[in-house]
Amino acid sequence: ERGTIHKDWGGRTPIALIYPNSYYLGMSSLGFQTIYGFLNGYENIVCERVFWEPKIRRAEEPISLESQRPLPDFDVLAFSISYELDYFNVVPILVASGLPPLAADRNESHPLVIAGGPSVTANPQPLSPFFDCFAIGEGEAILPRFIEVLTRGLQDKKDQLLKELASVPGVYVPALYDGKPVSRQWLAALDSAATTSVILTADTDLSDMYLIEIARGCGWGCRFCLAGFWFRPFRFRPLDSLLAHAKNGLEYGRRIGLLAAAVSDHPEIDELVSRLHQMGAVTSVSSLRVRPLSRIVLRGLAESGTQTVSLAPEAGSERLRQLINKGATEDDIIEAVDNVAEQGLRQIKLYFMIGLPTESDDDIEETIRLALNLKGRIERTGCRIALTVEPFVPKAGTPFQWLAMPPEEVLKRRINRIKNGLTKSGIEVRTESVGWSLVQGVLSRGDARLGAALASMSGYSLAEWRRALEVRDLNADYYIHRELPFDEPLPWSVVDSGVTPEYLGEELAKARRWAQTQPCPLKDCHECGVC
Ligand code: SF4
Repeated sequence: ERGTIHKDWGGRTPIALIYPNSYYLGMSSLGFQTIYGFLNGYENIVCERVFWEPKIRRAEEPISLESQRPLPDFDVLAFSISYELDYFNVVPILVASGLPPLAADRNESHPLVIAGGPSVTANPQPLSPFFDCFAIGEGEAILPRFIEVLTRGLQDKKDQLLKELASVPGVYVPALYDGKPVSRQWLAALDSAATTSVILTADTDLSDMYLIEIARGCGWGCRFCLAGFWFRPFRFRPLDSLLAHAKNGLEYGRRIGLLAAAVSDHPEIDELVSRLHQMGAVTSVSSLRVRPLSRIVLRGLAESGTQTVSLAPEAGSERLRQLINKGATEDDIIEAVDNVAEQGLRQIKLYFMIGLPTESDDDIEETIRLALNLKGRIERTGCRIALTVEPFVPKAGTPFQWLAMPPEEVLKRRINRIKNGLTKSGIEVRTESVGWSLVQGVLSRGDARLGAALASMSGYSLAEWRRALEVRDLNADYYIHRELPFDEPLPWSVVDSGVTPEYLGEELAKARRWAQTQPCPLKDCHECGVC
């Protein structure tokens, strides 16, 4: 590792920053690294990292990487949770540390246990029995006030501290919830806090690459997308500041990774990529939109040695792309793929979903037809396509939050149809597990009762999850295989993304008539309620 922060504990508040999954995944998360750097930026705080290797199922208790201390030694345990499936590791981490998993069973002698991250921001309820409080929104916007109250109140009784924390904007304390939704906090001046790699290590997804967040949020309004609705509005960092970050990054090596929901949305992306190239950087990007897709960016990436880009058409049929408000026609997709291939890149990863609302077998045939067409067009260039196919999962706080997932057998049949239709033509198809996607659906629309099921699990498998639900008299169908009526109270209404329920309802109504919504105009707009 380069960039590890070691601090003396004397006189400081120790916080364990826990990624409830492997070192490899945690260190690949720029959000996790940012919070590590942010907390250690406080003179009176020492923040150390803790990971959990679920596959190893260690019997020994987890310890921090920096000083090898066990979790009960810390004043605060801060979980950074990105994905629903990491919920399964929360209880094992607490139990292996000798801590009672339920917040109600912990006392003054135990650390304060908090959580933040995209999935718990959208719906903290399934984990609410385990945590003293949640950070709803962006860490940089919540933590300054949170740290102030925390460090002042740690000597107080826990009840008193929680009461004070509950008054901090963006902090949700389940035990003290008063019926008023907690407003998501977001950083209005994005560039006031840097979001770059803090530690470089070879043991990550993007080995030894210096990552820079260039923009946050997304204004395109894809109706299924959690990031698109929970990170509004779209904000970007100025070119000068990005180049200054890149200069720092180039001291570690030549590899620079640009991150955003859609990197190509940055208004100065062409200039940025060209300047990075002049600075000698080998540039990669997290994801590009099908449209707009600048040739200059593609050329810059190719010249930097990038081999692969990812594009997400999401659906094969025009009808479904309109329904989800993807804002990309088949011609756009063809043009994008042609451009990528012409610039000499070697592989295009294409992301598709199955199980979208109203999807029929005909839509699946359209996906196969489109993929074969794309392959045929670019074959001569030596560029190949690979598909990743994932089931649609309804996410809290999106226009599709009310919709159901199709039955398991339908999803499996459609995935198999795509595989059979494409692999024989030499197109690689990667798929997500249907079973685990359904679990993700349960947790993303779940309520606090699921906590009891999570707490009673004695292993990590689909069979064990089903058993745990059954023991608690809970039914997965209730959570995922039914459409929720508009007047049904939603478990996640304890939090408020800023997007009004009326706007979400209108977007769903527009989806049902295949009507499009234009991207965020950013200026003078109060359409969805966030700005
Ligand atoms: S208020 Fe307008 S610009 Fe702001 S996030 Fe909503 S739609 Fe986008």
